[in-house]
Amino acid sequence: MISVVIPCYNEQDVLPLLHKRLSAEIEKWKEPCEVLLVDDGSSDQTWQLLKSFSRKDPSWKAIRFSRNFGHQIAVSAGIQYATGDCVIVMDADLQDPPEELGRFIEKWREGYEVVYAIRTQRKEGIFKRASYGLFYRILRKLANIHIPYDSGDFCIIDRRVVDLLNAMPEKNRFVRGLRAWIGFRQIGLTYKRHERAGGEVKYTLRGLLRLALNGIFSFSTVPLRITTLLGLIVSFIAFLGAIFTFLQRIFIEQFTRIGLSPVPGFATIVISILFMGGVQLICLGIVGEYIGRIYDEVKQRPLWVIQESVGINSSSSPHRDNIK
Ligand code: UDP
Ligand code: MG
Repeated sequence: MISVVIPCYNEQDVLPLLHKRLSAEIEKWKEPCEVLLVDDGSSDQTWQLLKSFSRKDPSWKAIRFSRNFGHQIAVSAGIQYATGDCVIVMDADLQDPPEELGRFIEKWREGYEVVYAIRTQRKEGIFKRASYGLFYRILRKLANIHIPYDSGDFCIIDRRVVDLLNAMPEKNRFVRGLRAWIGFRQIGLTYKRHERAGGEVKYTLRGLLRLALNGIFSFSTVPLRITTLLGLIVSFIAFLGAIFTFLQRIFIEQFTRIGLSPVPGFATIVISILFMGGVQLICLGIVGEYIGRIYDEVKQRPLWVIQESVGINSSSSPHRDNIK
């Protein structure tokens, strides 16, 4: 059986089209399928639409969060409740066309545990494209795992990978990173990323930034090492400065001749204090990013809270008490 997981946040404008196009594709796969839609605390008609899909066809199931928990959490929940032998993750907005999925399933049948999509073309603004490009390149440099360039969450993963993902209790989830971390046979297929079929972009700039920071800080401790390096560099500069001042005092005449006579150094002091303060705060901030994440982990809160669901078998759910 194939499961399709789709996070939806205020997607009433695209859902009917998604239902139509995805149903048509599923027809072609000739396999038992379930579609698991996760309503991430929408405030529009999304939940009503999801319920109506489920009424029409019980293989379309839906979960409704008690509030907005974020895309990565919605994806994680969907993967958790999926029962298929493989799980497809895609966005609701049809930027990832369902028509591509046939190729993905083909590769999965060939034995790949993870088939992820690589975007060759993005129909997004230049600023967003540039930031994405920069992010993936920084991540590649910093992370100690191989996260492929321009691969999003659009993918198909085998049951083995699904079980491993479900077993990871991480709170700050960067699903595409975890997926890469797991390993096995992975392959990327290129596709053209389309424009949104309707509605507005749901990721805010802040949301994207948080995702990016999670990607970097959850998969790399290089920033911590950079603070050490910064400390060393600044100490070295300070050391050179000290030597310079010392020599200046001893060889006053020679220094005066080349125009470097000692002057009461108000500016130098203020600048160096500010510089030091800045460097220290930056380093503290970086350390803080890690401490904040450790704090999130130790609190042991559930990743999401479910308000209601349709078609989900609650006895198989990991949050049995939580589901109605
Ligand atoms: N989404 C979500 N919760 C959020 C934000 C987004 O479930 O808080 C879903 C949204 O409904 C969509 C997918 O995540 O299916 C991707 O969001 P969007 O298209 O806005 O972002 P993009 O990745 O295209 O920039
Ligand atoms: Mg989108």
